[in-house]
Amino acid sequence: GDEGLDNVVMPLPLISTSRSECRWADTSSYATNKKLQSWFQLPNGNWELGKILLTSGTESTISLPDGKVLKVKTESLVAANPDILDGVDDLMQLSYLNEPSVLYNLQYRYNRDMIYTKAGPVLVAINPFKEVPLYGNNYIEAYKNKSMESPHVYAITDTAIREMIRDEVNQSIIISGESGAGKTETAKIAMQYLAALGGGSGIEYEILKTNPILEAFGNAKTLRNDNSSRFGKLIEIHFSETGKISGAKIQTFLLEKSRVVQCMEGERSYHIFYQLCAGASPKLRDKINLKIASEYKYLRQSNCYTITGVDDAGRFHVVTEALDIVHVSKENQESVFAMLAAVLWLGNVSFSVVDNENHVEPVADEGLTTVAKLIGCNLGELKLALSTRKMRVGNDTIVQRLTLSQAIDTRDALAKSIYSSLFDWLVEQVNKSLAVGKRRTGRSISILDIYGFESFERNSFEQFCINYANERLQQHFNRHLFKLEQEEYIQDGIDWAKVEFEDNQDCLNLFEKKPLGLLSLLDEESTFPNGTDLTFANKLKQHLNSNSCFRGERDKAFSVRHYAGEVNYDTTGFLEKNRDLLHLDSIQLLSSCSCHLPQIFASNMLTQTEKPIVGHLYKAGGADSQKLSVATKFKGQLFQLLQRLENTTPHFIRCIKPNNSPSPGTYEQGLVLQQLKCCGVLEVVRISRSGFPTRMSHQKFARRYGFLLLENVSSQDPLSVSVAILHQFNIMPEMYQVGYTKLFFRTGQIGVLEDTRNRTL
Ligand code: ADP
Ligand code: MG
Repeated sequence: GDEGLDNVVMPLPLISTSRSECRWADTSSYATNKKLQSWFQLPNGNWELGKILLTSGTESTISLPDGKVLKVKTESLVAANPDILDGVDDLMQLSYLNEPSVLYNLQYRYNRDMIYTKAGPVLVAINPFKEVPLYGNNYIEAYKNKSMESPHVYAITDTAIREMIRDEVNQSIIISGESGAGKTETAKIAMQYLAALGGGSGIEYEILKTNPILEAFGNAKTLRNDNSSRFGKLIEIHFSETGKISGAKIQTFLLEKSRVVQCMEGERSYHIFYQLCAGASPKLRDKINLKIASEYKYLRQSNCYTITGVDDAGRFHVVTEALDIVHVSKENQESVFAMLAAVLWLGNVSFSVVDNENHVEPVADEGLTTVAKLIGCNLGELKLALSTRKMRVGNDTIVQRLTLSQAIDTRDALAKSIYSSLFDWLVEQVNKSLAVGKRRTGRSISILDIYGFESFERNSFEQFCINYANERLQQHFNRHLFKLEQEEYIQDGIDWAKVEFEDNQDCLNLFEKKPLGLLSLLDEESTFPNGTDLTFANKLKQHLNSNSCFRGERDKAFSVRHYAGEVNYDTTGFLEKNRDLLHLDSIQLLSSCSCHLPQIFASNMLTQTEKPIVGHLYKAGGADSQKLSVATKFKGQLFQLLQRLENTTPHFIRCIKPNNSPSPGTYEQGLVLQQLKCCGVLEVVRISRSGFPTRMSHQKFARRYGFLLLENVSSQDPLSVSVAILHQFNIMPEMYQVGYTKLFFRTGQIGVLEDTRNRTL
């Protein structure tokens, strides 16, 4: 019969809406209306809300809240929103979308403890620096059953779970922000929600317990944050087909090793050292010859042992309990503590000059003997490893004695590598305990908590790597939110104004181009025996000066124009940090140890080959350890991370630090604005307002909501069914568009349908 006709593809009705107007700081016609309020920028950069009393010609008279009346240039005024829009929970709802309005709206909410605000698809979280009553089981319940809908980490996490189940696609929650902005707390809040909704197997409890462990070993007090993560973290939480958590996997990035042997006045080394010193039982203290923190040089140098309000001894017990829970045996825990003590004692090893060429030998005191005992090596071999270097010359091996500074570097390198090996080993143990194994059937939600863009007075290799990573993540963000959307609209024949956005490909090229990019040149210079930070800096200037994102600076410095601003890098220490050489002598020492952890560390170091970074001053001929440079390894990890993220539906949370004190209640406009710009929040709102962020294929839409239709549709093709659904639910024409293959909706439109569907099911 006629039924066959239904399958004939008909020309699609393109339901066109007028292009949404983007009123970004559009004040032209506005300021002439004298009844309105308007933003006026004070000399200190802050914005004040003023009433326009009179406008004549190019000048306006405004009155400020303090009663002052000013005459200002009309064009300097920026439109303010009507009071009724005060504190809207999505910045997209603002009629006038300009910097002061956005800042004001966030501040209005922040002052009322509403620290979360949506910026289109992105969640903005402003650090309250105090406890806010927004968390716990009642809130989790409320978000779960949708009786609560205001912006929240719970809400984002809930969306991720739903989309994982609905679309059968893995999800990711990408959290970014400056140090101290609240990333790690936010990640924990998301994990709590996942654990509450996907719990049942018991494994969720183990997953939550990884937090105190990783924080003890990977966090430290810095000047910016008492609990600053010194590594990046991706945790992938797996769900079974029934939506229950089945396991997890943690990947860490770029632990700051240098902190183990050196940290600034007022900062601390890793929490675990102080926790151990304060909390170890007398029996353990005796066994690993542990003293109080101030006895150790590594901990003494920064002159800071405690954190206000933190009980290190108490934390130590929390950590050991958590280690129990993730199945690290008591025996292994003791080995871990022995390694920590060994690191501390290494720092106390001192040297004495033994000849007139400044060669040194370690002093055979308590420090040295304790290290030997703790790692299980021969005292004589330890002495040799810390004061000599074997070199091969032709067929002969000669032994070179070290000067004081060489010996100290060797000692510190050994301490750093023991600590970072220990950290990696612990993560591996945690992963074994959380392993999904054969249960891996369903989907996953990944949470990324990674250091944000950093720009200090002095920026070194660490900032270089961190900012490179952020450049990549920013591209991921851009791509996802802007590029992919635009392309999809165009592909699907949607009438949509093209929005320009900042592309950072040029900066990425500066880093990644081969052979003349920052990373390649760094690796090249690192392999040259005579390469120094200065020759590296000169090489950059020689090859990259024509690049618009690069600028050579005085002496050993250069600067990069990042998406978030220009950063000046000082190359001092770049080559050494990139080579991260542990001399073969030290590795051999570790492998000769009778304790199992040093042996594991040594064998892991020896298997890290691939691209050789050799050619060090003390290179021991062909037998030298060949390892990946730090930058190359990091780049590899980063690419792997991005590849993983590419296959997920991302959800972005941008954490904002409202002041640098840190103190509750203080909101510094300039600081907030700069962060909003850095993470592209203002751009996102602008673009989302003019776009259709939600989309679904005709088939899927018809399948999902078709059963809600009250009347029969004459034609059963997905498009006709879809259109009928749209009509029945009274979705306004300007709220959606019909493309060739998909339906496109403005934010929030699909909510009514989902709610009805959930109620009906
Ligand atoms: P980041 O990981 O971005 O460096 P953190 O997550 O460690 O920052 O947060 C720094 C500090 O800010 C925390 O130690 C905590 O005191 C405070 N903080 C962050 N988020 C919250 C929150 N949601 N509620 C209360 N305090 C918070
Ligand atoms: Mg952190």
